[in-house]
Amino acid sequence: MTPHEGLPLSRSTTVGSIKIHGIEAGVQQLDGGAMFGVVPKPLWERRVPPDHRNRIPLALRCLLVEAPEALVLVDTGIGNKEDEKFMDIYGVTNRGDPTRLEDAIRHAGFEPSDVDIVLNTHLHFDHAGGDTFVDAEGTVRPSFPRARYVVQRRELGFARSQNERIRASYLPHNFEPVDAAGLWTLVEGVALVTKGVRVIPTPGHTPFHQSVTIESDGAVACFLADVCPTTAHIPLPWIMGYDLEPLVTLESKRGLWKQALADDWLLVFQHDPRTPWGRLDPDADGYALRRD
Ligand SMILES: [Zn+2]
Repeated sequence: MTPHEGLPLSRSTTVGSIKIHGIEAGVQQLDGGAMFGVVPKPLWERRVPPDHRNRIPLALRCLLVEAPEALVLVDTGIGNKEDEKFMDIYGVTNRGDPTRLEDAIRHAGFEPSDVDIVLNTHLHFDHAGGDTFVDAEGTVRPSFPRARYVVQRRELGFARSQNERIRASYLPHNFEPVDAAGLWTLVEGVALVTKGVRVIPTPGHTPFHQSVTIESDGAVACFLADVCPTTAHIPLPWIMGYDLEPLVTLESKRGLWKQALADDWLLVFQHDPRTPWGRLDPDADGYALRRD
């Protein structure tokens, strides 16, 4: 059984009058210790049991947003450019046409060519890998040539800085072909991307990481991305070892949870293999998801 069996290709809900679709672009398996940072294994393995290589399954969930003036795709999974060794190390299963991302977009009722805006939370390979694809001739090209691609300006600069600590995560073939095609729209700080869709800086995982809010008729959803990858990471100190600035993540998360509780946000979890979204429980001791 492949780890994503049981995960529907897509599922949908609404935020006010905007329809959103959780798009399952496959799964990856990452080291459980790295996923939970300083949290001791006896604590995290009770919530998420690891395999014999100490890896835990993670969704590659993207979000398709039917905003009033544009069809927006938030993040793009891993893509089809990596070799077998890479796919084995990271336990990636994302086969499809050309990947499971595109299959899931069709499952939600659209063609990949319908996407107007590709929004990247950051440029790590499991978020921007599907920004480009390799064709039958071996040429790497943008996967959504009609779309404009949006990321924080300084995230792109940071991805290009390629030091020893970060370069395994930032693969130039995921973002340079987008640049060569002139498709980037680079934003700084909070920005309205299209009516109803806003990016908000949530630094820590990377210095220029951003989350995405969808707002309509007073309702708000927030695609958290790696500031809180799974529901197990909701408690403030449960922060990934991958994070470059964990204390900054802590404050990003604290600010988000305050707002999420005050305004009853629908929180979308990108890497949780079971739970695509949920709301915080105002009656919980600390922060926890509402059970409903
Ligand atoms: Zn990630």
